[in-house]
Amino acid sequence: MSHRQVIIIGSGPAGLTAAIYAARANLNPLVIEGEPSSTSDQPGGQLMLTTEVENFPGFPNGVMGPELMLNMRQQALRFGAEFLTEKVTKVGFGSRPFHIEVRDQQFSADSVIVSTGAQSLMLGLESEKRLLGHGLSTCATCDGFFFRGQEIAVVGGGDSAVEEATFLTKFASKVYLIHRRDELRASKIMQDRALNNPKIEMVWNTVVQELIGDQKLEGAVLRSTVDDSTRTLNVGGLFVAIGHRPNTDLFRGHLEMHDNGYLITKPDSSYTNVDGVFACGDVQDQIYRQAITAAGSGCMAAIDCERWLEANH
Ligand code: NDP
Repeated sequence: MSHRQVIIIGSGPAGLTAAIYAARANLNPLVIEGEPSSTSDQPGGQLMLTTEVENFPGFPNGVMGPELMLNMRQQALRFGAEFLTEKVTKVGFGSRPFHIEVRDQQFSADSVIVSTGAQSLMLGLESEKRLLGHGLSTCATCDGFFFRGQEIAVVGGGDSAVEEATFLTKFASKVYLIHRRDELRASKIMQDRALNNPKIEMVWNTVVQELIGDQKLEGAVLRSTVDDSTRTLNVGGLFVAIGHRPNTDLFRGHLEMHDNGYLITKPDSSYTNVDGVFACGDVQDQIYRQAITAAGSGCMAAIDCERWLEANH
């Protein structure tokens, strides 16, 4: 069994920023970065599935998501962070040092930073993988700007979909809001805002059956949930907003979480309910979900962790 002062689980912007800070604090962190074959445990996190990132400060000409993550990883390596390209299979936070298993390897750790992120729920179409970042998006804040003057669509009927559709009218000439039922789940006030927006056209009782386009999204085949009829909608952008899922299955029964699975951190900190276990990034953020806010909270977690170790070890 190998012992570490700090183990960081997850390697998106939160985990890698925590790694940079922890490494520069001479804590020699081990980052268990995930498995390349998996979407939920993918090293580098959700930015590995994007193309151009234009809103990360410091890159006036934009940067590709995977390149940004590679840079962060190299920066952490430079200061002595170590990486293990594996998936954590089990954690034990009930006794100290903490216990972490990775398939057939076992680790003990004085402290743990959880940064396993979240994933956008997807429609489950084969074509999604090909077109994500090429017209298909899961983040209006990130990608809305690319669709100035174009007709686009949003899928979903909750607050996220309605909020994204409303936000996207700032850029798009028209936004189709595609929902599988004949009433929205979103709160009344947000519904009213969307239903009264002249740029938003509701497409009720409809699901996306297929995406059209090889290298780039060109449209979607829509299917009516009432009579199964199909039609083509020619849009260059489609935003999937049907909810998110935090990657917290591993921590069920070990860390306090909200009913929807997001980890609970103490206000203005990265402290979880277990002393010495910290959480940062999308795994504990259901509001902002940005690379820069994840990175910021990764920095907070490393500083909290360093101070906690100083006081307790
Ligand atoms: P929700 O779970 O609330 O809504 C998901 C929506 O997507 C539902 O309308 C659902 O349809 C639809 N959907 C789910 N799966 C599919 C599918 N496979 N195909 C087509 N449609 C599908 O998720 P949200 O992300 O919208 O919201 C999550 C939480 O965050 C909520 O509590 C929400 O209130 C909150 N939130 C608040 C905001 C605010 O107040 N500003 C902004 C954004 C989110 P159906 O209705 O038929 O189930």
